[in-house]
Amino acid sequence: MDGQCVVCGDRPVRSRFFNIRFEKCPICSSIYLDEESLVEFIQASLDNPGSFRGFPEHEGALEGVSTIRCRECNQMMVHENFTPGRMEICVHRCLDCRQILLYPVDLFLLNRVLQKEKMRIFQDALSGP
Ligand SMILES: [Zn+2]
Ligand SMILES: [Zn+2]
Repeated sequence: MDGQCVVCGDRPVRSRFFNIRFEKCPICSSIYLDEESLVEFIQASLDNPGSFRGFPEHEGALEGVSTIRCRECNQMMVHENFTPGRMEICVHRCLDCRQILLYPVDLFLLNRVLQKEKMRIFQDALSGP
C-alpha cells in the first residue's frame, strides 16, 4: 500500500504486532490493514497479555470524519460493524478492495471491546467449567 493517511495526510509506516503486518499513521494512529489481518490482530490481542501499544488513549481528540476514501482505490469507505466471535466492533471498510481502516475512534473503541473480552475470558477461566 502506498500514499498518505486519508485521515490526516501524514505518511503511515510499516508496523507489526506479533506476526501481523499493517501500516500505522505516526500522527493520528490510524491503522491500515486487510480483513484477514484484522481478525489475526484481534486474536493476537486476546491471546497475549501484552497489549498493542498503538491505541489512542483519549476519545476526546477524535472528531469523526464522515467521508473517508479508500487509500488504495479511492472509493468511499463504509463504516460498519465487524463481529468476530461475540464482540462487536466498528471499522471503515472498502467494499471494492476489502481494505480496512481503523480510524482513531474505531481503535479507541476496539481497545475497549478487547479489554472487556479479555476480562470475560479471565473470569471464565477462574470460574471453571
Ligand atoms: Zn493519520
Ligand atoms: Zn479500496
